[in-house]
Amino acid sequence: MADVITAPAQPRVPVRSRTGEALGEFPVRRIYCVGRNFADHAREMGAAAPASKAERGTPVFFMKPADAVVTGGEAPYPPGTADLHHEVELVVALGHDAPAGVLAPEDAMALVYAYGVGLDLTRRDLQAAAKAKGLPWDIAKGFDASAPISALLPAADVGDLASRTLSLEVNGTQRQSSGLDMLIWDVADILHELSKLYALRAGDLVFMGTPAGVAALQPGDDCVGRLDDLIALRCRIV
Ligand code: MN
Repeated sequence: MADVITAPAQPRVPVRSRTGEALGEFPVRRIYCVGRNFADHAREMGAAAPASKAERGTPVFFMKPADAVVTGGEAPYPPGTADLHHEVELVVALGHDAPAGVLAPEDAMALVYAYGVGLDLTRRDLQAAAKAKGLPWDIAKGFDASAPISALLPAADVGDLASRTLSLEVNGTQRQSSGLDMLIWDVADILHELSKLYALRAGDLVFMGTPAGVAALQPGDDCVGRLDDLIALRCRIV
């Protein structure tokens, strides 16, 4: 049977080598996001940060629609907010389906195809209102163009994540910076926890959470997110 409407475009993220060579495009299936995955950011949001791995409980998860990805270097200032915040994050791109059942942490990294740097753009005023009323975060997090993302770099070119530093400059001034060794749940832990709740598939992206320093963006702001000198995201708010 024919489609009864024009098929929506599949969201895609470019993949590039360390030298910038185009390697292809990554079709996006789902975007999972992790909340409160850096203690310094949890504290700046007024939440308790776990004192140890044993006390970390379970991660906070939410989702964005696949077509929230922005790869063109410009993201529109969204409607419905007067307090749009940046959250720079490591993005994990899955290249394989998870096997049935719960994914063991020691098997998780074999699913990872590539990494990127993303912005979890957040309507902070709407999130604060939702939190105050105990309501879902969807309208604060899952809006159009809420997920600017860099080109992806194959995982083999990134190497040991724990020794890497994630950072964000806005208009040339550093706003956020943290070693990835500060993640409360690392990539293997997060994929393990997600697999208890969802069937992970090739094409899934995971935004891993942001370190401290989140703040407001204005139209005209230039954001540059980096993972060391390996990956760079450039996004102007328009
Ligand atoms: Mn976030």
